[in-house]
Amino acid sequence: ATEIRLASRPQGTPTLDNFDIVDVEVPRPGQGEALVRNTEISVDPYMRGRMNSAKSYAPPYEVGKVMLGGAVGEVVESGTDAFEPGDLVLHGFGWRSHAVVTAQNARKIDADAAPREAYLGVLGMTGLTAYAGLTDIARFKPGDTVFVSGAAGAVGSVVGQLAKRRGAKRVIGSAGSAEKVRHLIEDLGFDAAFNYKDGPVAKQLEEAAPEGIDVYFDNVGGEHLEAAIDSANLHARFAVCGMISLYNATEPPAAPRNLMQIVGKRLDIHGFLVGDHYDLQPKFVEEVAPLVRSGELKYEETIVEGLRNAPQAFLDLLAGANTGKMLVRV
Ligand code: NDP
Repeated sequence: ATEIRLASRPQGTPTLDNFDIVDVEVPRPGQGEALVRNTEISVDPYMRGRMNSAKSYAPPYEVGKVMLGGAVGEVVESGTDAFEPGDLVLHGFGWRSHAVVTAQNARKIDADAAPREAYLGVLGMTGLTAYAGLTDIARFKPGDTVFVSGAAGAVGSVVGQLAKRRGAKRVIGSAGSAEKVRHLIEDLGFDAAFNYKDGPVAKQLEEAAPEGIDVYFDNVGGEHLEAAIDSANLHARFAVCGMISLYNATEPPAAPRNLMQIVGKRLDIHGFLVGDHYDLQPKFVEEVAPLVRSGELKYEETIVEGLRNAPQAFLDLLAGANTGKMLVRV
């Protein structure tokens, strides 16, 4: 068996030296436990925060310990009535080839309903994040003009498509390459998109949304947030989901500098964590699973082969190499 451990805490942008790849004995499941051979593991931006020692909403990874994260796999041996060999399960013991789970910390998934990878992305944590943020936090309503950053990623791509389907007047996305911009418009049906590396975000957003925005779904923070405040209409709602432009920062950000507009525009700027919104899971699955099955809601996955490549996949995720959900096939 193989596992990937945090070797040291990064300063700024992580490197491969921050990870250890270790060969270990295959664990044996005890009474009430099952052994899972992981097939796919999730690599996610929030893991960057957990590599720091600072206390945050998710506890820091411990140096010398496995990088925990979402995973799917197949039960190969079981000491519990809850699972039988051959069952596919979703659990939180990723970044390793084999995991021991219980009925309390793993759940069966139905691979006939959707491909198992989807339970880590579009029908899993990132899909629910998009759904909860757009509906509950931003209180989206038909006719809204919506701007989403990180739009070609796992969360952003679902936000934009859901907004469009639910009757947005205009959906605008930003992403980090010309190919991603093309993808947003041609494949995902965004009304407008721009490459934030092409020039100032504020100017590009203003051109894409001449009548302003009613909803901003923030995955990026910094200059993007400043631009969204500039373009916000009266009473605009912001669902603040993440600020990936700051995760590797060693200095405080230069933007936003325009927070005073929050007052005059009566902006509703609301941070959220998906972990608080699992009550929405049934509604989310009810709405989104059929769209995924029918192909009406498109989702990309960038799948890296080989558990040993997980550290590189994670570094590549932070650098924008992925379109849609980034996964590692064990
Ligand atoms: P993505 O699939 O969107 O992957 C991350 C993307 O971020 C990269 O592909 C890259 O795309 C973009 N990126 C990296 N650096 C920058 C930068 N400096 N400026 C702008 N974009 C950058 O990841 P997820 O969909 O999983 O997550 C998206 C956001 O949602 C993250 O901020 C994450 O932390 C947050 N999140 C929050 C949750 C919550 O509960 N609040 C739950 C899940 C995710 P590009 O090529 O466009 O630069």
